[in-house]
Amino acid sequence: MRNENAEGESGLGLRLTVLGTRGSAPVCGPEYAEFGGSTSCYLVEAGNHAIILDAGTGMLRAPVAFPDPPAIILSHWHLDHVLGLGMYARLSKAGAKTNLYVPASSDQEGRKMLDGVYGPPYWPLVLDGYGGTLHVHAMPQELRIGSVSITSMEGNHPGGCLVLRIAYKGKSIVYATDYEHDQLSFERLAAFARGADLILYDAQYADDEYDTYCGFGHSTSGKGVELLRASGAQRGLLVHHDPTSTDEVLRRRERDLACDAVRFAREGEVILL
Ligand SMILES: [Zn+2]
Ligand SMILES: [Zn+2]
Repeated sequence: MRNENAEGESGLGLRLTVLGTRGSAPVCGPEYAEFGGSTSCYLVEAGNHAIILDAGTGMLRAPVAFPDPPAIILSHWHLDHVLGLGMYARLSKAGAKTNLYVPASSDQEGRKMLDGVYGPPYWPLVLDGYGGTLHVHAMPQELRIGSVSITSMEGNHPGGCLVLRIAYKGKSIVYATDYEHDQLSFERLAAFARGADLILYDAQYADDEYDTYCGFGHSTSGKGVELLRASGAQRGLLVHHDPTSTDEVLRRRERDLACDAVRFAREGEVILL
């Protein structure tokens, strides 16, 4: 367990802002106006503490100023989850401190992996060359930031992906992006997500597409509904929309779920728990 920061508490519970929810690659155009085209990035606020889940292109809309230094947590290293980090304005702000937690066996390995993504010839600067201060940490199994607890579990995805559970003042959010269900992984996730107030779940594919994409490391909307029931969680938000899924497609898939507690995430929406 690792402790970060002094307390900065307020009476509010968790507040989630969807900054980007597209999977695999960003898209734009009028056919994506409702659900959005930016890749994975979610802001969770708990009192004075801010946790940013993934650094996809949605990161470009993330706030720069926070009461306490924010913690960005990468679920994994796939580019759709990392692509926004180099353009996050806070990293260039002189004197601003940001903590970045990454899946790695040590802080040094995490830094090395980051430099492999951000640095020549792929990017003009290493992230150390920005004006702010970026502290890179290997993500521990449990991280404490004030009275926010963030626990992690290894998911089921090519190359690995962390599933995260954020708990604060009796409320909890589970973030299970880039997750493929099989019987064992589904049961493990249902146990990890037991009783959560909100689950964000990978539903890149429709149920009738799954045979084609089995083994790609993603799940379906129907499994999202099953997960809600199996875990006893309150609400489900389906994420990691396929780049080919237009607003029309996602609206139809949402109607077909016939479950009021589960919907597809829309970029810009805010959920208070
Ligand atoms: Zn992804
Ligand atoms: Zn991935």
